[in-house]
Amino acid sequence: MGSKDLVVNEALFETNPELFENPYQFEIEQCEILDSNVAEPIQPKSLDETPFEYIDQVDRLIKLCDQLGKLNRNRVKEIAVDLEHHSYRSFIGFTCLMQISTRTNDYIIDTIKLRSEMHRLNESFTDPTLLKVFHGADFDIEWLQKDFGIYVVNMFDTGQATRILQYPHHSLSYLLKLFCDVDAQKQFQLADWRTRPLNESMLKYAREDTHYLLYIYDNLRNDLIKLEESRPCFTANSSHLRQVHENSKTICKKVYKKPTFYSKGFLNLCNHNSHLNAKQMKALKDLYAWRDKMARESDESHDYVLKNHQLLKIAELLPREHHGILALCNPVTTMLETNVHELHEIVKSAREFKGTI
Ligand code: AMP
Ligand code: MN
Ligand code: ZN
Repeated sequence: MGSKDLVVNEALFETNPELFENPYQFEIEQCEILDSNVAEPIQPKSLDETPFEYIDQVDRLIKLCDQLGKLNRNRVKEIAVDLEHHSYRSFIGFTCLMQISTRTNDYIIDTIKLRSEMHRLNESFTDPTLLKVFHGADFDIEWLQKDFGIYVVNMFDTGQATRILQYPHHSLSYLLKLFCDVDAQKQFQLADWRTRPLNESMLKYAREDTHYLLYIYDNLRNDLIKLEESRPCFTANSSHLRQVHENSKTICKKVYKKPTFYSKGFLNLCNHNSHLNAKQMKALKDLYAWRDKMARESDESHDYVLKNHQLLKIAELLPREHHGILALCNPVTTMLETNVHELHEIVKSAREFKGTI
C-alpha cells in the first residue's frame, strides 16, 4: 500500500469508522453465557484411542464442516482450535496448520493445501451456539482473518482464564502439566510448519495443542465459578466467568491490518537512550528503512533480510568495505550478497553525515 492510499484510508476512517470494524462486531457482543453451573470435567481418551484425521482434500474438509454443523444439534457445544503459522520466509506470514478437537476426535487441516477452501469453516466459527476454545487467541484471530477471511463468534480463551484466576503461569504447557500431567514438547513451537509430510513428533505436538483443551476448559470454567464464592467479582452484574468471556470478545473483535512502515521504529532498536553518535544513528535509520523495503519487495520477513543485532552491529561499526559488512551478517544469504552494494552506499553516506538525527 502506498502512502497516498494510507492517507485516503485514514480520512475514510474519520468519516466512516464502521467500515473498519469487525463485520461480526454485533454478533460477538450479543453472545451470552447460558449456563454457569459447575459440571464434571469430561476427560478425553488417550491420543492412541482417539480417532485422528489429517485433512488435505477438499471433500474431507466439506465433511468436517458438515460434522461441525451437526455438533450443536446433538448438544455437543464446544470445539478446541489452534493454528501453526510460518513467518520467517514471508513478509506477512501464512498459516500452515489448523488443529481442531471435538470431545471425541482430533483433526489437523493442511491449511497450505486447502488455503482457498478454508472459508467454508466460517459458518461454524461464527455460529454463536458453538463455543470455540483457544489458548492465547490474539494471533490466531488475526491469522484466521488474514489468511482465510474467517471470523470468530463465541470464544473462550483459556489464557485469559489463567489471568483472571491469577495462576502463577499462563502458558498452555503449564495447564497441560497441571490438569493432564502431560509434558508438552514446546521446542516444536518454532518448528518449520511448512514441512510436508509432517513427521510423527510434529503431528503429535500439533494434536496435543488441542486434544486436551476442552478438558482444560472444563476445569478452568469450574475454577472460575468456584472463585465467585470465595472472592466475588468486583464488577457489577458480572462474574469471573463472564469476565473471561468479555476479554475473549475483545480479542475476537480485533481487525487484522497489514503492517505499515513506521520510520521512527529504528529508535526502538537502540532503546531510545542510545550510545550511538549521529553518523551511527543515521546508518541505523537508513538500514532500518532499507530492510523494510527489501522485505516487502521480496516477500521475506524483516528477520530473514537482516536480524536486529546485525543491523545494530553494521550501524555501530560502519565498515568501510563490502566484506566488512558481510562479515557482520553471518549467515550471508544470496539476497545480502547481491545487495551488499546498497548497504555499502548507506554506510558510506552515514560516514559522511554531518547533521543530527
Ligand atoms: P502455539 O499456539 O503455541 O502452537 O503457537 C502458534 C504459532 O505461533 C507457532 O506456529 C509459531 O509460528 C508462533 N510462535 C509461538 N511461540 C513463538 C515464539 N516464542 N516466538 C515466535 N513465534 C512463536
Ligand atoms: Mn496457539
Ligand atoms: Zn499450537
